[in-house]
Amino acid sequence: MTDPTVLSVHDARMDYPGGVTALAGVTLDISDGEMLAIVGPSGSGKSTLLNIMGTLARPTSGRIHLGGLDVATLRDRQLSALRGRWLGFVFQQFHLSAGLTAAENVATGLLYAGVPRRHRRDRALAALDRVGLSHRVAHRPHQLSGGERQRVAIARAVVHEPALLLADEPTGALDVRNGQAVRGLLEQLHRDGTTIAVITHDRDVAARLPRRVELLDGRLVADSTGRAG
Ligand code: ADP
Repeated sequence: MTDPTVLSVHDARMDYPGGVTALAGVTLDISDGEMLAIVGPSGSGKSTLLNIMGTLARPTSGRIHLGGLDVATLRDRQLSALRGRWLGFVFQQFHLSAGLTAAENVATGLLYAGVPRRHRRDRALAALDRVGLSHRVAHRPHQLSGGERQRVAIARAVVHEPALLLADEPTGALDVRNGQAVRGLLEQLHRDGTTIAVITHDRDVAARLPRRVELLDGRLVADSTGRAG
């Protein structure tokens, strides 16, 4: 049987210059098909944890395994390739390219996934259809609402079918109605099999998710599955 663990963080510590300990030894395993919320007050280390889970930052100490590979053993180019194939990212502020259409923005999610150029547009259109934006494929970000921009960003994050989708406050910049739509979309992606870790301040969002882990002062202090240690 294949190992169902998609991502494993073992005893991760992150010290920033100036004596700030953002993570003080966090251990967390994420299994295929899970959807979990990472909660905790501002400054508790959530974004730092997401950055090391996403291999965007290397921890000061501790080990990260992605798809069974110890990421510390990989050179930066190998790490970028692994990230491009295995992970998808969604941020609070969308981070779309202003000069590109929705379809072009989504297609950039395939640049590192080994998908030939001739297939990228079709895949992008299918991903936009999946997030309900078939009627907006030629729009640029400034022609879209905040909720639509976030749906484009989600389409870009899942177009290559990542093993893990990482979302940092994806509803944080949206009004209530658009926030609900984006939340519903993430839940739909999860039902369809996507593994998702989402940072959220919103206790209502967190309460709806199958698993919640809570950070406080750089430590994992609670895990609703009882796995906190
Ligand atoms: P959260 O996402 O829960 O708000 P962060 O991971 O952003 O928490 O930050 C955790 C702690 O690390 C905070 O005290 C923050 O000020 C500090 N921190 C975050 N990034 C840096 C950095 N690049 N340099 C120095 N300190 C940082």
